[in-house]
Amino acid sequence: MSYECVIGLEVHVELNTKSKIFCGCPTTFGSAPNTQVCPVCLGLPGALPVLNKEVVESALKAGLALNCAITEDGKQDRKNYFYPDLPKAYQISQSEKPIAFGGHLSIQTEEGAKLIGITRVHIEEDAGKLVHEVSGGTLIDYNRGGVPLIEIVSEPDMRSAAEAKAYLQKLRATMQFLGISSCKMNEGAFRCDVNLSVRKVGSEQLGTRTEMKNLNSFAYVVKAIESEMKRQIEVIEAGGQIKQETRRWDPAKGQSFAMRSKEDAHDYRYFPDPDLMPILLSKEKIADAKASLPKLPADYIHSFIDQDQLRVDMAEQLVKDKLIAEFYEKTAQMVTDKETLANLIIGELMKTVEETEESLKVSEKEMAVLVDLLAEDKINLSIAKKVLSMIPNTEASVMAIIDQHDLWPITDVATLTQLADEIIEQMPQVVSDYKAGKTKALGAFIGQMMRKTSGKADPTICEAIFKEIVG
Ligand code: ADP
Ligand code: MG
Ligand code: ZN
Repeated sequence: MSYECVIGLEVHVELNTKSKIFCGCPTTFGSAPNTQVCPVCLGLPGALPVLNKEVVESALKAGLALNCAITEDGKQDRKNYFYPDLPKAYQISQSEKPIAFGGHLSIQTEEGAKLIGITRVHIEEDAGKLVHEVSGGTLIDYNRGGVPLIEIVSEPDMRSAAEAKAYLQKLRATMQFLGISSCKMNEGAFRCDVNLSVRKVGSEQLGTRTEMKNLNSFAYVVKAIESEMKRQIEVIEAGGQIKQETRRWDPAKGQSFAMRSKEDAHDYRYFPDPDLMPILLSKEKIADAKASLPKLPADYIHSFIDQDQLRVDMAEQLVKDKLIAEFYEKTAQMVTDKETLANLIIGELMKTVEETEESLKVSEKEMAVLVDLLAEDKINLSIAKKVLSMIPNTEASVMAIIDQHDLWPITDVATLTQLADEIIEQMPQVVSDYKAGKTKALGAFIGQMMRKTSGKADPTICEAIFKEIVG
């Protein structure tokens, strides 16, 4: 019997406002512990919260970008629970009247485009951070307490780790393009809880879900999903039942562990925060916000497809990161062969940006030079890759790198013919294969030629030469 997995994601995005959500304390990441706190964000009795207007504006943008309906009379609620990093013993969040609800985000899957439902977007405050000492004690840093968050809850619409990853990437890019968060996953500015259940294929009913909290890299999300799906199927197959619980993913062990049984919403005893005013958003204000949204991933995708004739999947790749999309767009204006540019970015530059969250090391101008050389067959792909790998460690231009490292391709027929003669002599078996009609044998010759010339031989000329000699 085969199973399908059902995934819904809750994503917390730290907003990049200068001050916290209910007080004037700064939100700078990485400051000395407990230097960015005041009576409000420490939850001292009698301190009163005042909502930061920019938080509402950012959440409104997020809601609109995710095609949501907007609540005109929002409110904020106290979510009651006790935890040492939450000094008030309640978190100010939103329950029934979130800023935005009922939207969707389109992702690219193997079967084409798919819409993932967005249940809600609400604002809330972040908690402090527990620091577990190696010596055994635990310290608390309240700097993060009161940093503004938006929580984006999806419908249980995803069916695989790949879909979850595509959703997260698109969502993260959207937040980045809106400019409302750094989205740095390694600083916890974009983190994800995975809710997952399994059911038999064809069944309409949802299975019992578990929740894995605070995954802060795409790779962890994928691994956590694959391992949790397997675990749940094994439990069910062995006749057991899945418990609704919160689990902690341990990246080192590649396994998740039960942390606690999961609360239901009613356990939190939500009630309206009496210290805060309703959040009133007029139709006019909503329309203005909508009209002033910046260019979003979907807009870039359209223009990459319409103007540059890129394939959908390529365009999707290029908008995974704002830096990449902007880099492509600027460089594309300088080159004729947009597809070569896109391929080079996707194949060579993207991984480093994704893994390190660092900016690109090559300028648009130098990239354009490289793409032109490649498109005009003045260098081949392996040389282009080599040049790209050298750029981060040098100030030299693309042309200078190729000159200095003697990377220009060998096109001289006499030189190549001499090398070809040597290769043919060393590979008699391949010669007879070729003569017996195995045209693939030619590939072996060219491969050998590339090894001999460190990838610098021009493959088209070589092919002609080999054909000529072996005949
Ligand atoms: P809570 O805060 O209690 O986790 P939320 O409503 O904020 O509740 O989030 C629930 C998340 O779990 C949503 O993303 C939803 O799509 C997902 N979800 C709910 N039921 C299931 C299920 N049976 N299987 C997988 N995901 C589920
Ligand atoms: Mg949850
Ligand atoms: Zn404060």
